[in-house]
Amino acid sequence: MMDFNLKPVASQPDQNSEKHVKVLILGTGPAGLSAALYAARADLNPVVLTGMEHGGQVSLTYTVENYPGFPDGVSGTEMVELFQRQAEKFGAVVEYDTAIKADLSRKPFRIETYNTVYLADTLIVTTGATPRHLEIPGERELTGRGVSYCATCDGWFFKGKEVIVVGGGDSAVEEAIFLTRYADSVTIVHRRDELRAGPILQERAFDNPKIKFIWDSVLTEIVGEDAVRSIRLQNLRSGAIQEMRTDGVFIFIGHTPNTQLFEGQLTMDAAGYIITDKLMRTNIRGVFAAGEAADPVYRQVVTSAGMGAAAAIQANHYLDEIAGETSPSNVALKRQ
Ligand code: NAP
Repeated sequence: MMDFNLKPVASQPDQNSEKHVKVLILGTGPAGLSAALYAARADLNPVVLTGMEHGGQVSLTYTVENYPGFPDGVSGTEMVELFQRQAEKFGAVVEYDTAIKADLSRKPFRIETYNTVYLADTLIVTTGATPRHLEIPGERELTGRGVSYCATCDGWFFKGKEVIVVGGGDSAVEEAIFLTRYADSVTIVHRRDELRAGPILQERAFDNPKIKFIWDSVLTEIVGEDAVRSIRLQNLRSGAIQEMRTDGVFIFIGHTPNTQLFEGQLTMDAAGYIITDKLMRTNIRGVFAAGEAADPVYRQVVTSAGMGAAAAIQANHYLDEIAGETSPSNVALKRQ
């Protein structure tokens, strides 16, 4: 969950500390670090900003089992460390900083962070996505007090307890299975009567004696003062509302791309995903996007990594092109 949408803090970056870079990459998830690896190996000395969540969503994943090359799985944090180490080995620089303003109307692009101002010849946006909220009473108030969006981070607190998981996709089912390590019972509440998750995950969930299902239902309220005590549930077929005791609510109902920083500058779809062509190019020449910020379809570590690599290759081509356009012989030719 890389949150690049935080409001600027009171302290302003030192305008005199402007740094000119050939390639600036926003985000250190699989897309950002793969872009960094490729840009570094092209001798472009990329700078990569972590945003507020170094490593993005994969760093919160307990085990990644579907990235080729790791037949026994790999933890999300270890995967990010390996990606980063490999990119740094070839000269990428990872900065623990967050972009707070972007001006893409000028060249080089001007990206302001909490600490400095970057002037970037080319920009690769890999800012990822953030979990979606239910927007129901009690959700915000009880976040961190029993409401969570990350089983890997918070599952341990629910040892021997009863929890609810909301959603029917791969994330909900995968995280529900993970939560059975700790919780005595995990109840998946889904708004339809069949899961969206893939068949392997579904089979594992149906076979797990600790997992129960409540179909055709939505949460209307999360109840509790200092901690979650119960939920109110509505059956969408009958309309009936019931209250159910629980110790925790884990919400996995999809994501919102972290692209607000570029609203009005980069072309996006209705959900806020940056639109690119097959070459990872956005509507602004020299700005590329990759990973979940630009991918409403696949959202896999392997596809994000591939998009990041492609974006860096295209950024390199772009830098070659503009170097050619501004070379003295070309400028002279154009003047004739
Ligand atoms: P998702 O596939 O979009 O699923 C979101 C789920 O939440 C759906 O079941 C949806 O219901 C439900 N939902 C959405 N809004 C809701 C609301 N307001 N109230 C109640 N329920 C709501 O999201 P995801 O599970 O996070 O997965 C995202 C992507 O990552 C997918 O492409 C997935 O394949 C991938 N992923 C893969 C793996 C893996 O391969 N191991 C693991 C995690 C994620 P409906 O079904 O009715 O629409």
